Amino acid sequence: MAGTPIIVAEDVTKRFGTHQVLTRVSLPVMERDVVCIVGPSGSGKTTLLRCFALLEKPSEGRIVMQDTTISTPEPDRQTRAAARAVRSDIGMVFQHFNLWPHMSVLENLIEAPLRVKRMPRDEAVAVAEKLLAKVDLSDKRDAYPARLSGGQQQRVAIARALAMSPKVLLFDEATSALDPELRREVLMVMRQLAREGMTMLVVTHEMGFARHVGTRTVFMDRGEIVEAAPGAAFFDAPKTERAKRFLQQFE
Ligand code: ADP
Repeated sequence: MAGTPIIVAEDVTKRFGTHQVLTRVSLPVMERDVVCIVGPSGSGKTTLLRCFALLEKPSEGRIVMQDTTISTPEPDRQTRAAARAVRSDIGMVFQHFNLWPHMSVLENLIEAPLRVKRMPRDEAVAVAEKLLAKVDLSDKRDAYPARLSGGQQQRVAIARALAMSPKVLLFDEATSALDPELRREVLMVMRQLAREGMTMLVVTHEMGFARHVGTRTVFMDRGEIVEAAPGAAFFDAPKTERAKRFLQQFE
């Protein structure tokens, strides 16, 4: 694994009450990595991603970004300050888009750069317009989310995440809520980002994407990482019975 780790989960265990959903998960994400997390429903994929996104705190273990601890079970002042400092470096794209419905597409894109980064409005608009062109939605600049298809809304959500210039982009089943033909347009945008060298952590049921675009595939089952291998290698030669059984359903 060459390169520099951007963000790392170290020995992360997560419990909700007495229900343990992650058990000592360690996962480094290197610069320009496209790590795809696959596995059966309920295996803890989303919870792990939410720990990386600082939306959940680990019960044990920690999240480290570029050598700085940003999340622990009981963060001290230093860790909380470090988390605040890097929050906008971690972008997240959700299954259900989560656009602000009362804002136009452009307003959705400039909101965080204006408020969080204190970017001048002209500059934020220029960045937003460039990103809308990138996801092929320049003509929807002034539309409201409700008027867009699911695929278009998800492309806006990706552009919105990119507007903060994140160092890593997390995708939580970004295509699961979409019909097959709309999935393709979102996957094409994700593939393009991967080509450009964006560091990505992708929870997905899209085995084609994991195989062909992912640099590494991580297979989770019952809260543990059971296997991790370069994208295609996991699919061509799964090592464990659990992984083989999981892959059978996609044959
Ligand atoms: P996956 O993404 O692999 O489907 P999840 O991370 O969503 O798995 O869920 C793993 C387990 O954690 C499931 O049993 C789920 O019910 C449980 N879980 C997830 N979030 C919560 C929560 N906020 N409170 C209680 N249990 C949760």
